[in-house]
Amino acid sequence: MLFKILLGFLCGVSAAATDNVTAQQGPPSLLLVSFDGFRADYLQRFPMPNLKLLYSQGVLVEQLTNVFVTKTFPNHYSLVTGLYAESHGIMASSMYDPVTQKYFRINNDTDPMWWSEAQPLWITALDSGYKTAAMMWPGSDVTNSNRTATHFLPYNSNVTFQERVGNVTKWMLGNEKEEGVKFAALYWEEPDRSGHRFGPDNTTAMGKVLKEVDDNIGLLMSELKRTGLLGRVNVLITSDHGMAQCSPERIIRLDDCLHPDNYTLVDLTPVAALIPKNNTQAVFDILSKCHAHMTAYLKKAIPDRLHYRNNERVQPIILIAEEGWTIVQRGNKSLRLGDHGYDNSLPSMHPFLAATGPSFRQGYKIRNLQSLDVYPLMCHLLSVPPRPNNGTLTQARCLLSAETCWDTPTVIGLVVGVLLVLTAVTVLFRFLSARRRAGPRAFQRLQVGYDDEDDDPLLE
Ligand SMILES: [Zn+2]
Repeated sequence: MLFKILLGFLCGVSAAATDNVTAQQGPPSLLLVSFDGFRADYLQRFPMPNLKLLYSQGVLVEQLTNVFVTKTFPNHYSLVTGLYAESHGIMASSMYDPVTQKYFRINNDTDPMWWSEAQPLWITALDSGYKTAAMMWPGSDVTNSNRTATHFLPYNSNVTFQERVGNVTKWMLGNEKEEGVKFAALYWEEPDRSGHRFGPDNTTAMGKVLKEVDDNIGLLMSELKRTGLLGRVNVLITSDHGMAQCSPERIIRLDDCLHPDNYTLVDLTPVAALIPKNNTQAVFDILSKCHAHMTAYLKKAIPDRLHYRNNERVQPIILIAEEGWTIVQRGNKSLRLGDHGYDNSLPSMHPFLAATGPSFRQGYKIRNLQSLDVYPLMCHLLSVPPRPNNGTLTQARCLLSAETCWDTPTVIGLVVGVLLVLTAVTVLFRFLSARRRAGPRAFQRLQVGYDDEDDDPLLE
């Protein structure tokens, strides 16, 4: 009997140890969550207690500089590839590809050719032997090199946040037959939808939807706790872009400048993409003088800093509206009170990043990071070799608990410290030198006395 108990105990210990080893194999799992259209300053303007609790136990990047155009599809693909739009090929929500002569629209986006210029992390991580999952993340229901994430669900606005989280945690946990996923991406469409409808300056309406978003973050954390994943997995919460306040007073009517028969319109606002039917230069000349709050560019002259030129899917002319202005054409009246897509240097277009988990520092905050740096950070967290990308780990490294961070205050502190030590050493050296010089002089004077006997009155 005693032997049986002892055997049972030993087996129990052994099984527990094996479970523990299994659980600890490889790096912690990673969950990437995007709340579409979460403008960075919502964090200062609204309470968000659950989100604040999350990053008080982890890290916060107050503003994430995203990529141009600051639209949903390009930025969600940049987050999981680390590439500018010109490099991953998802240039906007409406595109035309002159090579295949195909059109891309938000509700017609599943042709793999659009997404094949890059490989998202949920595919790359498969090559490291991991299972992956993507819940309604843009592009995740499309095959890439004939592959998809291990688990995915195409976008369906009828599926609640709770249902999405329930599936994701189930996939992360795995079961007896299948191990859990190492990387999961989760998408939620608010506060973008309400931001478009009410405008970000509508504090009452945005306060209501941001409370719902914050409740969803609370729901996510309690679900992670309930399933035992909290504290074992790394969680990144971020977004694709911000939101600018628009107004019926700030309208740019293309038809006032040029009849629409002169060009084919691929995309409209706030970045219009046009293919002139005949004389590109003539169309450009007219549109460049069309409105004081809109800038026209020939494709070859699009500024380098936008990284929005080197792709077939960039049209011959693009028009960029100033923040808060809306471009309309052919009497289009679908004015939104909030919009995004504007220049990515505008703070109103920036989202944020918060993270928590075993790999992150606690209570640490930085002002800014490039959204392209999220990809190398995720690859580092998962020990997945990153594909060629436009990001860097240099700054993102500071967010990690295991890394020595050379951030500006530390560097300034070190430089000041080194200067103080050098000054102290120099002063000490001079003092000792002075003392050394003073010593021999006294000795020499004594010697001079001995040598110069004539001067010694006692010997006379
Ligand atoms: Zn979006």
